[in-house]
Amino acid sequence: MIETRTYDAKDLKEERVKKDIRSTLLTGRLVVFPTETVYGIGAYALSSEGIANIYNVKGRPSDNPLIMHMKDAQAITPYVYIDQPYIKDLIDAFWPGPLTMVFRKKESVPTLITGGLSTVGVRIPSHPVAQDVLTIADVPICAPSANISGRPSATLFEHVMEDFNHRVDIIIDGGKSDVGLESTVLDVTGDVPVILRPGVITQAMLETIVPKVLRKDGVKANETPASPGMKYKHYAPRGELTIVEGDQSAVVRYINDKIKDHHDKHKKVGVITSDALIKQFNTTYVYNLGDASFDSSIASNLYIGLRMMDQFQVDYIYSVAFHGGSYQEAIMNRLYKAANHKIVKL
Ligand code: AMP
Ligand code: MG
Repeated sequence: MIETRTYDAKDLKEERVKKDIRSTLLTGRLVVFPTETVYGIGAYALSSEGIANIYNVKGRPSDNPLIMHMKDAQAITPYVYIDQPYIKDLIDAFWPGPLTMVFRKKESVPTLITGGLSTVGVRIPSHPVAQDVLTIADVPICAPSANISGRPSATLFEHVMEDFNHRVDIIIDGGKSDVGLESTVLDVTGDVPVILRPGVITQAMLETIVPKVLRKDGVKANETPASPGMKYKHYAPRGELTIVEGDQSAVVRYINDKIKDHHDKHKKVGVITSDALIKQFNTTYVYNLGDASFDSSIASNLYIGLRMMDQFQVDYIYSVAFHGGSYQEAIMNRLYKAANHKIVKL
């Protein structure tokens, strides 16, 4: 068992703490730190021990590649080929920020982190603590979401502690993640960029910079996914989650009927909803993601809501659908996956 050291943002000014973070990373050990999307579990990208530690500690399938994080766009040139002219414009518009670009990798990037692929995902995070960690380390850091594989990503320090206390060397507390959903993943190897995972940087936003952006979604059985992460169950709470979509009053009626059925069988039921409907459901375990017209608040609370359902230890979970606003695609993408695509349309 590891005696995990915890720091907060202001500790990073201390020489002693900087030294600890740097030597921990350079010796192939793990440091969890906040980013603007979700918390990341970081290892030195060129340390095979560090990378193996990430896969082990997360329980992540070894063909699901890791994103390399670097402190600025200049730092990426030893690692990737900038194949397309539009990449520079995307860098200027969206970095640092919640956009991962998938490039053709150079020899210097170990295939261990790319799941054997000839491409690598790179992101420059904007969060000041993530920036500090990258500056202190002064090497590329792989930092997948800081959750045990298959569980909802962690957007709070407490949630990181739940999954990784005594399993990593250092955890840095940065409060609540702003965005609350993982980065948009964009393949920039071809003439036209392709969204592999939707995020808060949307197709419409990207198309203000490049004329056309394609989307790739879902993976059929036996098909090789463009983004290996797409084939795995993700973000899932322990209870069985169903999304209920449709006219508000019909949704409330449907969920309350289900609650009654489950209660008759002595099962616990949770509901994930927005402000407007919190008083409508006949169960104690209701989690309010906030005002549905503020999609940024729904996004930043989604994983907290899913994890809250685990704390409530409910057997069944019903969530309303969240439509409207530019974050909706990313929100519903994560919710569909969390529900393993179980959706009732009324
Ligand atoms: P996470 O770091 O946990 O947010 O997950 C990273 C996501 O980016 C996963 O869905 C990966 O499959 C995807 N990804 C990372 N690198 C690549 C790559 N080289 N090509 C395609 N998808 C990638
Ligand atoms: Mg993840």
